Amino acid sequence: MPENRVGTFLAVPMKYQIMIAIFWILGVGIGSWLFSRIFGAKRRGIVGALWPAAQFLLFLAVVTVFAYVFVPSFNPFRPLLSRVAGREKVLVLTFDDGPNEPFTSEILDLLKGRGLKATFFLLGKNAERYPEVVKRIVEEGHQIGNHTYSHRPLITLDETQIAGEIEGWEKVMAPLGIHTNLFRAPHGWKVPWLYSVLDRKNYQLIAWTRGVWDTDQPGEEILFQRLTEHLASGEIILLHDGIETRIEPDRSQLLKVLPRVLDYYRDQGYEIIPLSQVKNGISGEI
Ligand SMILES: [Zn+2]
Repeated sequence: MPENRVGTFLAVPMKYQIMIAIFWILGVGIGSWLFSRIFGAKRRGIVGALWPAAQFLLFLAVVTVFAYVFVPSFNPFRPLLSRVAGREKVLVLTFDDGPNEPFTSEILDLLKGRGLKATFFLLGKNAERYPEVVKRIVEEGHQIGNHTYSHRPLITLDETQIAGEIEGWEKVMAPLGIHTNLFRAPHGWKVPWLYSVLDRKNYQLIAWTRGVWDTDQPGEEILFQRLTEHLASGEIILLHDGIETRIEPDRSQLLKVLPRVLDYYRDQGYEIIPLSQVKNGISGEI
């Protein structure tokens, strides 16, 4: 089914396709508007000659800004970890939006049975509900990352509010003895002033290579397909053991597919490595 190909526009669920289309239309619209505001009707001489090139560059700039904000793995201005380079046949598993029972515990059971380590980007609000699960994640050798306290889209927040979301998470975790320097933005959306907060608090921004929209419950077969086809070494795979701050969302579809997916990775010769092993040879700094 080519319509489910990872990495193509058609693989994206329709609601995101619509969103992307709107962003592109907005990009063209804002670009054209800015251009006409700057140059007005003065289209003679040198401006007239450079008109098409300038319009194209402005359009490119607007699209770049949209991509910078909304494409999690895209930042031309500084390194961003979205893929592990320098090692053959490795994959990194990450789970976002937990803890969420009983699914987080079931994932931990599965990983334990196979001797695998993953990274869990927890939400502070969910961790308050399941402190025992948080402790178990650490005790079993997995890594924990900060995914904010309540999963508010950071692009709607100023610097102080972003710091508040990150520190809200830290306040929940500190009594459990948990500290981290890994951060993942809700939806992967980012703004320049997010980096100011992360730099000040010494966090590394972690994106991903393969998001499969597992929270949309696409069906077991499609989910399997999205998680396995065109697999390449170094991919950081994004899965969800919770769904934002919802109370006990159903993640059973993922749990049904995950053993098969892990079998497939193993059979293809891939080693699952934790982010803690990612020190050098990565496409970013950590
Ligand atoms: Zn999330």
